[in-house]
Amino acid sequence: DPRIAGISSAIRIIPDFPKPGIMFQDITTLLLDTKAFKDTIDLFVERYRDQNISVVAGVEARGFIFGPPIALAIGAKFVPMRKPKKLPGEVISEEYSLEYGTDKIEMHVGAVQAGERALVIDDLIATGGTLNAAIKLLERVGVNVVECACVIELPELKVQPYLDVWLNLFLTHGREKLGGRSLFVLVEGE
Ligand code: 5GP
Repeated sequence: DPRIAGISSAIRIIPDFPKPGIMFQDITTLLLDTKAFKDTIDLFVERYRDQNISVVAGVEARGFIFGPPIALAIGAKFVPMRKPKKLPGEVISEEYSLEYGTDKIEMHVGAVQAGERALVIDDLIATGGTLNAAIKLLERVGVNVVECACVIELPELKVQPYLDVWLNLFLTHGREKLGGRSLFVLVEGE
């Protein structure tokens, strides 16, 4: 799609943020580019309209930027999947592992009903841990996760060629963590 190049070039890469060695994919510059931002939302809307999706679940924090305009356009409700202790009502939560330690996401009880069809949205997938936790949370209450969608997918860790063979025995791509559920992304990060 010719719109992808404009979206890709509107994403700014900031080296060594939030710590040395990380190439941070900054989507705030995409939001400044009115054409690229609209193209991003349009591409998702074109894919998910007419799919009987009643829930768009957005992962904190940047899933809250892309999720609501998609939800409005396809006639679905928006459900925030939040960091711990942010939601005021009764919640269910799902823990997931990080490089060091664990994190959790939470969803309000009663926000979704068993049998609903959901799209899970975030800005970026790296290890896949966050999206996997979001899927588990929705499936625990009987929701059918139709697909996960991200603006950016980070490729596998780049390592020295001779180490590659060995490390690949231990490393998995983020999307492999999603247990075979389908993932749709617009651009590959670097
Ligand atoms: P994962 O759980 O797949 O390893 O990491 C994905 C989560 O981390 C997403 O919620 C995403 O917002 C955040 N994240 C990790 N790295 C980056 C990055 O370089 N840019 C942005 N925008 N988000 C990132």
